[in-house]
Amino acid sequence: MTNVSASFQLGDLKISQLSDGATFRDPKILFDGVEEKDLVAALGLANSSELIPFNFSTFLIESQQNKWLVDTAYGFRDPEENTESCAELLIRLSEKGVQPSDIDFVVHSHLHFDHVGWNLDENNKITFPNATHIVAEQEFDWWINYEGNDHPLKEKVQEKFKPLIENNQIKTFVGDYKVNEFLTMIYAPGHTPGHTIQLIESGGESLILVGDGAHHPQHLVHQDWHPIFDWDRPQARAARKKIANIAIEKNSIVSGVHWPILTLGKLSEKNGNYDLKFIDK
Ligand SMILES: [Zn+2]
Repeated sequence: MTNVSASFQLGDLKISQLSDGATFRDPKILFDGVEEKDLVAALGLANSSELIPFNFSTFLIESQQNKWLVDTAYGFRDPEENTESCAELLIRLSEKGVQPSDIDFVVHSHLHFDHVGWNLDENNKITFPNATHIVAEQEFDWWINYEGNDHPLKEKVQEKFKPLIENNQIKTFVGDYKVNEFLTMIYAPGHTPGHTIQLIESGGESLILVGDGAHHPQHLVHQDWHPIFDWDRPQARAARKKIANIAIEKNSIVSGVHWPILTLGKLSEKNGNYDLKFIDK
């Protein structure tokens, strides 16, 4: 059984990763077209048919003043076959002593369905009644307003926002955006048109939550290895390089909602070759 939650301290902030489903994925989906021998070596697999651990999750961040979430995971649903856990975010949240009404704001890395799921609960009611949902304007427009987006799950995403729009719980921004003294949303499009990452800083430490800029830590090392889900591959590559370079420049810890709980890394670069070492915290 993999972990379903874990917490650590970053300066004055308590950071918790909360599972909404621990499952497994075919690495060939996450690393489309990568040569088998390269993939097997990078991921330490017996062969490329071996499934790799994959999580749907949310990060809860608690300061003395506020509680906020990064993404709202996959939401209420039927379990996948052979999954270890599923649709459990609200249970994991309450285990941390936090009720949905305690959440002050939610930031969305992007609006793919597995990052907006708990915007609404199992009764299609707003899950976080006191939270402003913050998302890049370009991302919001792409999913909510742009008729040219023919993504098959577009309407499901729109349903997850309709009550929030009616209730004035949405805030959008353009470019990079400093949400508060600890959190900056950094524009890193490519996986989707308005994808952002989250830079979190406190007490001289920093953490970058990579969104779907890296479904797996090895995406930050091999920035030209693409999941099948990337919307624009050249932009997604550039975003991954940008994420890696910011992480190195700031000596940030990196982590992501799809990484097994808890996976923290530090990146380095030499002669254009990137490396990631896992760390404990
Ligand atoms: Zn995702």
